[in-house]
Amino acid sequence: MHNCLLPWVNLFYHTSGKVYPCCKLGGNAEFEVGISTQPVSQLQNSAILKDMRVQIKNGTMPLACIRHCVNGIQPLNSLIPTTYKNKKAELFAATAVDGTTTAPLLTCNIDESNLCNFKCIYCSKDHSTKFDGILRKAFPSPTEMVSILSPVLDSIQLLILAGGESHLQKGYYQLLEHLIAIGRTDIGIHFITNMSGYTFQGRNLYKLLNQFSNATIIGSLDASGKRAEFIRRGTVWEHIVSNRKYLQQFPNIKFVLQPVVSNLSVFSLFDFHREWVERGFVEKQNVRLFCLTHPKELCVNVLPVEVKEQVKVKLDQYKQWVKESTDTELNGVTLSHKISNISHWIDQPSEVSIRHLWEFISPLRSALTCDFEDIFSEFKTVVPQNGQSKNARAQVYTTHRPQ
Ligand code: SF4
Repeated sequence: MHNCLLPWVNLFYHTSGKVYPCCKLGGNAEFEVGISTQPVSQLQNSAILKDMRVQIKNGTMPLACIRHCVNGIQPLNSLIPTTYKNKKAELFAATAVDGTTTAPLLTCNIDESNLCNFKCIYCSKDHSTKFDGILRKAFPSPTEMVSILSPVLDSIQLLILAGGESHLQKGYYQLLEHLIAIGRTDIGIHFITNMSGYTFQGRNLYKLLNQFSNATIIGSLDASGKRAEFIRRGTVWEHIVSNRKYLQQFPNIKFVLQPVVSNLSVFSLFDFHREWVERGFVEKQNVRLFCLTHPKELCVNVLPVEVKEQVKVKLDQYKQWVKESTDTELNGVTLSHKISNISHWIDQPSEVSIRHLWEFISPLRSALTCDFEDIFSEFKTVVPQNGQSKNARAQVYTTHRPQ
């Protein structure tokens, strides 16, 4: 069974001002641990976290984890620094029967606000202001964020900073400057960004991160060119490429590619990754595949059968290519294992059909200046024209369900 130690050592600060055990459970009322202005020690011993610990300690994966980590095959346990992963027994032993822990906070995910310059197809108002124009904040102010986190900055080993768009979050610059001022440049920083920029109010993000010994820019990029511009509205692909080139001037910053694997990106995943390796933009093993589970219309299991077959061939080639060199991955699960998981996920039953995908993307298709299938060639034979399903094509709109 997969264990996850995040309920011991992690907190996730959501743009609603609420706190959750991890980003996978973020925004889910059932798993609300508390609010951001509460002391960390109080949040760590909330009823939700204590209950999760008791279950995990007793050898049961909480249902939430099974549901939100794709049957437990993608736990974020890997975020925990290796030194602590090996201390599972110790963490378990130091946990009271009711789940209370005195373990220090080691990792912290923060989504400071939903301020964003993009409107990605699978995103929502919690993570982008482009949906309803309302700003949502995890903390009352950037200064309060730094002061609330200050007491735990001694123990923290990894900060995962996301958004909204992270390079537009004022608090992150203040937090990084504070860490530099107190000499904690050894903290691991995972800065998740859409790569559209690196400056804010006269500060240069890359220059700040370059002062840390273990900083990583995690590029949320799923595809290249027009496909990327369709999936993540607001993208200007040449800008992304030029920002990636500029990042090469900062040798202390590692770069990781984090594609969201959806039914719109999965077909070109291999080509995109290989192209970026060939251009020297990413090391082959520095890719984190994030398999989309919501919205359902965009999941990989919502594909016509014939496209699934093409995708599986691509995924096999991808896996083969990955295996030609060291098959490691940033977050502890091998990349080829992740690719196998995608193949497995493709065949899972879906609650929606391909017709729902066409409906979902219909407004975006109408805004295109070219044909959708010119960008997404895998759909050439199955895409309905003018929003209408053609009779001859109708059969493939039903999602394949394995017997
Ligand atoms: S297994 Fe997944 S859902 Fe459960 S605590 Fe870990 S990361 Fe969160």
